[in-house]
Amino acid sequence: MVKPLMNLIDTFEQFNIDVLHYISIASCTYATKHYSTYFPSKFNLESDKQQYYEDFDINVDYSNPNPNAKLFILATGYWKNKCYHYKQQDYKAGRETEKNVTADDYDYYKSLFETSVCSICNAKFTYDNHPSLDRQDNEHPHTKDNCWPACVSCNIAHANRDPKIASLHIKMRKYAIKHNLPMTISDERIYKLLRECITGGLAAVFHRENIAGRSKFNSEKPYVVKNCIDQRKDIFVAKIKGYFPKSEYNNLLPLPPIFRNIEIENREMVIGEYMYSQAQRHSLPMTKKDRKLATLLDTNNQFMVFNNYYLWLLIDLGLIITDYKAITVFDKNTAYEPFVRTMMNLRIQSILAGSSKEKFYKLIINSSYGYDTLNTEKFGKIKMLYKAGTFIAQHHPNHMGTRRISANTFAVQIKPKTANCFTSIQSGVFTLDNAKYCR
Ligand SMILES: [Zn+2]
Repeated sequence: MVKPLMNLIDTFEQFNIDVLHYISIASCTYATKHYSTYFPSKFNLESDKQQYYEDFDINVDYSNPNPNAKLFILATGYWKNKCYHYKQQDYKAGRETEKNVTADDYDYYKSLFETSVCSICNAKFTYDNHPSLDRQDNEHPHTKDNCWPACVSCNIAHANRDPKIASLHIKMRKYAIKHNLPMTISDERIYKLLRECITGGLAAVFHRENIAGRSKFNSEKPYVVKNCIDQRKDIFVAKIKGYFPKSEYNNLLPLPPIFRNIEIENREMVIGEYMYSQAQRHSLPMTKKDRKLATLLDTNNQFMVFNNYYLWLLIDLGLIITDYKAITVFDKNTAYEPFVRTMMNLRIQSILAGSSKEKFYKLIINSSYGYDTLNTEKFGKIKMLYKAGTFIAQHHPNHMGTRRISANTFAVQIKPKTANCFTSIQSGVFTLDNAKYCR
């Protein structure tokens, strides 16, 4: 048992990964992959890419503004409204509002916003990036002395945290955006959209092939799709409803192309006569609903999430979209390229040398995306409450369950409002969806 373990440790050691820090091969691989994106030259010696964050400087502006965005010019109405809201904010927090900024300071702030930059991230203020006033001392109100200009997003991210640490985090994020590095999701709506899209199982893979005279979709449509892929830098994830028309059923029934989890009821017409009668004979619970991976010909009258490549394939096969709810756009990146190239080379070398390490490198490549989708959410928060507190908590929409501990003590479980994302979940989503067909 010791020798395989030593082998494992040695294999990852060459990538500077300490196996003892991680609990599975998937997490070791995950660490290796992300290490390789930030230190590409350590993985692929021919790579001329520098090591990221080596040139990082906290005083440099890493924002990547839209070159067409116009410089922000403060309007009187806008400023007046801002002053009113700052005053309300201070008043509600019980802060003295006498020395607050007022509509009379318009000229001062108009020129300040035009000439200065964000005090946190050094970005210029544009109509894409509105300025706001960031209070330096949170005990004090919005006065001229206490406020520095900052982007709205920086101001929110800064909140009550240490300004230098907040600034470092924001700049590191901007650096990552500028260099197209994979990173975690910070917008909860996008996180939830991606979370829905994770449907596991490579039960079957579509192979597209062109057979002269037989293929229906080898004329202009694949070209259009190919063109879209080549020309667009952006890739997206969309939440849609749709169906395949009855005329396509004959082509598609052997392998319905929509692979998604749906809730299945154990009724005879759903699971079939044989399964139904078997289940009844063995008195299995028939009222329970199950989530099952299904191959479908429509989206089951639900909104379902697809990535662009999968959606294009479905459209190619004749999908008609009837409704859409959300769409989110991502930048394409090739950050994992050194990782894949290195592992593939190592695998080929092992095959040539007749070494069994070949299987190991295959495993590394195959498990490299899985950990991206594993984000541990906190599913519940448990509070110990007295009877009165329990009564209130049970009426809250986030209430999940209650258990009596003693006469006047209850354990109340509450759904947390937010979920943090610690993995680059979008990488996993695209890998999973793209794996459903092969071009
Ligand atoms: Zn900023």
